[in-house]
Amino acid sequence: MNIDSGQSSCPLCGAEHLEITPVLHHMICAYIGPQYDFAESPAGYTCPKCRRSIVSDDMACEIVGVSARCTACGKEMIVSPL
Ligand SMILES: [Zn+2]
Ligand SMILES: [Zn+2]
Repeated sequence: MNIDSGQSSCPLCGAEHLEITPVLHHMICAYIGPQYDFAESPAGYTCPKCRRSIVSDDMACEIVGVSARCTACGKEMIVSPL
């Protein structure tokens, strides 16, 4: 499901508590997933696919989008830029 970036309420249940999370692309292994999939480590994050560590401002890791998750019903959606 996609929502516009201007939308702040859940299209499913109408709750206005969307948790916005950056979606990261790890270029080394081509993994794409929300930031909470990447386990936090002392250096930054750990990729859930290749287990390499990702430091902050890592050139091998870029933000490719934003995902929103409803804290009320747990629905996840991709936020499309307007
Ligand atoms: Zn909801
Ligand atoms: Zn990786």
